[in-house]
Amino acid sequence: MKINIVSLFTGMFETPFSDSIIKRAREKGLVEMSMHDIRDCTTDRHRTVDDTPYGGGAGMVMMPEPLVQTVESIEREKKSISILMTPQGEPFSQKIAHELVDFDQLLLICGRYEGIDERAREIIADREISIGDYVLSGGEIPAMVLVDAVVRLIPGVLGNDQSIEHESFEEGLLECPQYTRPEVFRGKRVPPVLLSGNHAEIEAWRRREALKRTRVRRPDLLKDLPLTERDEG
Ligand code: SAM
Repeated sequence: MKINIVSLFTGMFETPFSDSIIKRAREKGLVEMSMHDIRDCTTDRHRTVDDTPYGGGAGMVMMPEPLVQTVESIEREKKSISILMTPQGEPFSQKIAHELVDFDQLLLICGRYEGIDERAREIIADREISIGDYVLSGGEIPAMVLVDAVVRLIPGVLGNDQSIEHESFEEGLLECPQYTRPEVFRGKRVPPVLLSGNHAEIEAWRRREALKRTRVRRPDLLKDLPLTERDEG
């Protein structure tokens, strides 16, 4: 998958994209990243990218010309999608991450200041995505969130593909509690079923605990979840 990031602060991506899972995905050749600095498409001496809003008001708005030019200068793959990071977009979710992993190219556009000129938005954005109902200073952190969530779904990126399967949201549930060594920590014991070696019982316990946890923390997730007879019991 090719990932192109359009931003005014491309340096912000250096560390998050050079460590851990994304680093490995890049090294394996499963992901190719390119950064595109919007200032490279300016024509004036000051490399201006923003201007005051028409109609007045606080803050600055990103000018359409350098932004649209930057996006249009990027070579597009056949199965490519451009995504504007914006608090006004559709809320990001695991479901959207799965939809995006099917593309050969993600072109992520990061706004700054008060956002981008509306005409630029209409021209460059195939889809608009928000990472939550709060306002950040720029689209860079939202883009990192999206990239991380999508890249770990690319087959071969995680060491063990199965580790995605039971993760929170994958089956419409939160994941069950996890334990590792030691068996007793500060007087708290690992649930005996996990030490039993009985895989059927362990699976049933995990499902029950996932349901219990979801019911308490995110009952909204259960609304559309088809429950089996065993779940109801
Ligand atoms: N004035 C805009 C509004 O009220 O909708 C907010 C602009 S925000 C300060 C600057 C940029 O940060 C946005 O253009 C967007 O790219 C990014 N951004 C901020 N919050 C975001 C969020 N929750 N999800 C995705 N992008 C966000």
